[in-house]
Amino acid sequence: MKNLANISFSGERFWTHFLAFSNIGALSQGGVERPFGSKEDLEARLYLQNACRAIGLEVQVDPIGNLWAVMPGTEKLSMIAVGSHHDSVPQGGRFDGALGVLTSLETLHALKEGGYKNRHPLALVSFTAEEPNPFNLSTMGSRTVAGRLTKDSLIRSRDWNGRPLQEAILAVGGNLELVEQARKTSNDLGAFLELHIEQGKRLERAQKPLAVVTGICGIHRLDVTVIGEANHAGTTMLADRHDAFLAASEIALAFEKSLLDEHRDDLVGTIGRFEIFPNAANIIPGSARFIVEIRASTVELMHRIASLFQKKAQAIAKRRGVQFNADVILDQAPEEMDKFLIAALEDVSTKLQIPYDRLFSMAGHDATHMASFTKAGMLFVPSIDGKSHCQDEESRFEDIVLAGQVMVDAIIQMDQTLDNNS
Ligand SMILES: [Zn+2]
Repeated sequence: MKNLANISFSGERFWTHFLAFSNIGALSQGGVERPFGSKEDLEARLYLQNACRAIGLEVQVDPIGNLWAVMPGTEKLSMIAVGSHHDSVPQGGRFDGALGVLTSLETLHALKEGGYKNRHPLALVSFTAEEPNPFNLSTMGSRTVAGRLTKDSLIRSRDWNGRPLQEAILAVGGNLELVEQARKTSNDLGAFLELHIEQGKRLERAQKPLAVVTGICGIHRLDVTVIGEANHAGTTMLADRHDAFLAASEIALAFEKSLLDEHRDDLVGTIGRFEIFPNAANIIPGSARFIVEIRASTVELMHRIASLFQKKAQAIAKRRGVQFNADVILDQAPEEMDKFLIAALEDVSTKLQIPYDRLFSMAGHDATHMASFTKAGMLFVPSIDGKSHCQDEESRFEDIVLAGQVMVDAIIQMDQTLDNNS
């Protein structure tokens, strides 16, 4: 494998770690389950700490439980970090998150072994609780670092069984009482690079082994309630009904139409959670509750669709004699990846003669939150058949090694050219 500074990413060493790491929370069909706060989460953290110490990195756990493993620099400059997350969705795959953490480990190992003298402190970071969890706080670690979650809201958080978040955070080595110290600024962290699986089919279709990510979509979620009238399913004439389910269904289809009418591939929407009450075969549904999610590349588009949806829904509700109510429960802005980092990743890929695509991510990542206060960049490797968040999740070893080498050479280029004195 070609490299630019005589330092090469070792695919074999990466793969040995990857196989061992995949045993933590291993499932029978090849996937893993490592939810935040579980014993598998703790085991994964221990594995990473040992692996980092074995190559001479200084391991620190911040107050939200993020793991930072640092290679000190020769100059007093802000840190450059590489990483991702080690937790997984229920019945998840081996690659989501873990790929970024373990390629970062190998990147730092290769730099160390190659005798590279880094000017900036370099760090591997594995963020706490990136995936949805019983505390309803996804990307918990990176959002805290970005100052987007307050101490109060974290201390108040409990899971579905009433277990306080603090209990889970103490167990992973953090402490919410000190959580404000987890906050970083661009002076502390000058740049962040995350390697991740694409989780889609675009790279496979383009037959490219790599993508440089240009931005990450915004996410807007509405908690919607439709209140109709529960009544007898036999004796209530069709004309007399205020069926909450049918009203919600018409609203759902109107939502789909608003999305389709835009004819764009940087806009998607989903109603992935839906409940009706009382949910009985012989009762006309009295109410429905569902979550409407919109993802888009710009705030303007995201908000325009959200208000168009509410307008259409109100009109349908009025015509059907039901009440419609929507509360915004998430309004996360899209983030562009840093131009300097995009240029570095493209330059290195070109010099290494690796064909790459430019992709805008419609999946959320820890890098979104890093991008809110510092330079952030991302690389995608193809997902076979576009499968992710399932046990069949798979990426090709050869593609991973190419991306790993890009990471090594991009870190060197960033270390030599980024000059943000702290
Ligand atoms: Zn992920």
